Amino acid sequence: MSVSRIVLYYAFTPISDPQAVRLWQLELCRGLGLKGRIIVSEQGINGTVGGELSAVKQYVRRTREYEPFSGMEFKWSSGGAEQFPRLSVKVRPELVAFGVPEQIEVDEEGVVGAGTHLRPEQVHQLVDTERARGREVTFFDGRNAMEAAIGRFSGAVVPETETTRDFVAELDSGRYDHLKDQPVVTYCTGGIRCEVLSALMTQRGFQEVYQIDGGIARYGEAYGDSGLWEGELYVFDGRMNTRFSDQAVTLGRCSVCQAPTSSYHNCMDRGCSTLQLYCEDCQHIPSQQRCEDCRARIAADPQHPNTGTLEKERRR
Ligand SMILES: [Zn+2]
Ligand SMILES: [Zn+2]
Repeated sequence: MSVSRIVLYYAFTPISDPQAVRLWQLELCRGLGLKGRIIVSEQGINGTVGGELSAVKQYVRRTREYEPFSGMEFKWSSGGAEQFPRLSVKVRPELVAFGVPEQIEVDEEGVVGAGTHLRPEQVHQLVDTERARGREVTFFDGRNAMEAAIGRFSGAVVPETETTRDFVAELDSGRYDHLKDQPVVTYCTGGIRCEVLSALMTQRGFQEVYQIDGGIARYGEAYGDSGLWEGELYVFDGRMNTRFSDQAVTLGRCSVCQAPTSSYHNCMDRGCSTLQLYCEDCQHIPSQQRCEDCRARIAADPQHPNTGTLEKERRR
């Protein structure tokens, strides 16, 4: 039996011709039989691809031969090509869709003005040092609020965001201005969102912004549930949630009955990607499995009592 692997990676580095890099990556992956998703932008590259171990090794080596990617870190994980429906290599204006490509400057060092990277143990050092000086470190969640519903850093600020595009308005709302002279540690799943978020915060006058190197994933590998992290981690694959140990607490609450749960479910309307948390008992009750928005639309229009009509409407 052949061995398969997945690699995840990103690099913020100036790319003058993203189309050329896209074509090169497409040919490289095709030739090696890899599947996955790669985004190329003038800001850099972000990808996750899987295939046979020897092919993935070759992919990593060949990708690093391109000077701007020579120092890029690859995170290896179990799995293979079968985890992905296809190979997709796209050019986008941003590596992470904050909706503000014009506000982000990237040079050979990465995102200009990004927060200082902290390794997991440095996060603890910072918290201890600041506490000794009488100051508290604030953790700032760089994910969508729904992801934070089942797990977050102790005492973290969770902005009201449905998508990453909502962050700029949140930062500009004044709601977090009291943190501008405080030490703030941003975090997200694997670190990429915070590269941009921390720079957007610095631009807006936050004076002491840090980000966790490798995100929650790396922090969890180091400290599991015995550090400052609480709960479970939302992940972007079929599992939806994962825990670092059996000691993980259940922070999520069923959207119907408030019972503790970490179990995400999509709104039952196809085409609606809203996620909600349901407990064991409530997840089987169909009438409760639409999100608030979809429920409101149905309630407002008796002519559209079912999913099919809603979908047609959406397509218009
Ligand atoms: Zn319930
Ligand atoms: Zn919905």
